[in-house]
Amino acid sequence: MNLVVVSNRVARARANEPLTGGLAAALLPVVEKSGAIWVGSSGRVRDGSHKDSFAEVQALGAGALALLDLPAAHYGGYYEGFANSALWPALHSRSDLIRVSQDDYQSYREVNAFMARALMRFRKPDTAFWIQDYHFLSLGAELRDLGVQHPIGFFLHTPWPTRTIIDAVPHHRELVEAMLAYDLIGFQTDDDCENFLGYLQSELGLTIEDGAVTSRYGKSRCAVFPIGIDVEKFALQAAKASSHPDVSRLRRSLNGEQLAIGVDRLDYSKGLVNRISAFDRMLTAQPALKRTVTLLQIATPSRGTIEAYGNLQSELAKLVSDVNGRHGETDWMPIRYLNRGYSQTVLAGLYRTARVGVVTPLHDGMNLVAKEYVAAQNPADPGVLVLSKFAGAANQLQTALLVNPHEIDGMARAIATAFSMPLTERRMRWEAMMRKLRASTVQQWFADFSDALEDAQASDRKVASESVAVESPKPWPLHAVGSGSSARVH
Ligand code: ADP
Repeated sequence: MNLVVVSNRVARARANEPLTGGLAAALLPVVEKSGAIWVGSSGRVRDGSHKDSFAEVQALGAGALALLDLPAAHYGGYYEGFANSALWPALHSRSDLIRVSQDDYQSYREVNAFMARALMRFRKPDTAFWIQDYHFLSLGAELRDLGVQHPIGFFLHTPWPTRTIIDAVPHHRELVEAMLAYDLIGFQTDDDCENFLGYLQSELGLTIEDGAVTSRYGKSRCAVFPIGIDVEKFALQAAKASSHPDVSRLRRSLNGEQLAIGVDRLDYSKGLVNRISAFDRMLTAQPALKRTVTLLQIATPSRGTIEAYGNLQSELAKLVSDVNGRHGETDWMPIRYLNRGYSQTVLAGLYRTARVGVVTPLHDGMNLVAKEYVAAQNPADPGVLVLSKFAGAANQLQTALLVNPHEIDGMARAIATAFSMPLTERRMRWEAMMRKLRASTVQQWFADFSDALEDAQASDRKVASESVAVESPKPWPLHAVGSGSSARVH
């Protein structure tokens, strides 16, 4: 099988470059090894007058990375608009934050159709397409409209909420019907998959049989594939990173204080306001902890042009300064708050330095930071993970201290408990989590989905590859193609 992976954002394999965003960071090592072609946005846009708009095709491990310039006229409506101001809030159960116009939906569909046309050049008789995430819900349907009969899979990295929340997304029926063009639809958790099937039954009146549904496109299967990380690589990286200058400086600066760490994109789904409030509450309830603990919160700005994100950034900066102002002393601040990215190596070292990892999203598809924190720990003296029960990772990491991110007092108590947990209990909890991580790595996730995609189409659509009319593919050159000027968007 000749796999073509598609995602909005792609990661570049440059050592020590910050990699923010679960999807790109998670996919890089596996795509690199698999020989797949990974197609995504170049981060630049250009006007629509160019027939061939790939910015670059470059080698990536045994495969290739194809970076595509997206159409300038539709990029804003697609990315900041429909994808991140309608779908993202709804998928994270924040329909109150939906802000969208009719044009945004049109732009979203246009970009999906544009991507489908661009993918034609990678089509070979044995190609399977694997589309990633909410940016491309209708890409499969666009490919089918172009006559593609190859296997097409889709994986959703975010949650899928209940029907009433999806109903708040404009054109939700049309979009979900389009998703049925996929042979296989993968979710992070059982709840997400059940919510999706529930929508198909109650909103579209479809009958579910064994997790599969039949529509005008044929049969689609829905299944759960929890994403993992490269555990051994991350553990090794963390052990090595202890001597990195940034990590050593952090350790020296602690003066014997115990560190808690939070690492997130600055996003309202991450529960940052509640987390800072819980740290505040803990210091108020247990003043003896002052000068003995510190929270290092890394919050990397993202999607800054969207109003909800700008508001959150101001709210958080104000809250942190308020907490530091009230509890801080001349030689001690409770919270170190940073708005920047770090390389994976440094991040691994920072996680290992922290006695407590605080990962408390209000709702999250999986949350890879939780898994990275666990993998980075020193086996002889591991830290404690305080984890929201609404992160997908909570299904696997059940020996973390699970918290309700809406309950500030409960979180405050859990963080204090984590700081004082004895070594034997820390080790017991950590070892159980590591067993789970090792049983469900990103390599396993990639292999499981690819195998299921192959099976799904082989058994259901019964498309004999020799009967499929396929244009002979144009070879893709390993250099920049296309012409004209483009502009950077992220
Ligand atoms: P999301 O995909 O919503 O951003 P995840 O927790 O699943 O959330 O993934 C976040 C990924 O981004 C992790 O791999 C994490 O290491 C990385 N990351 C987050 N913040 C930073 C940062 N400041 N610097 C470098 N990497 C970061």
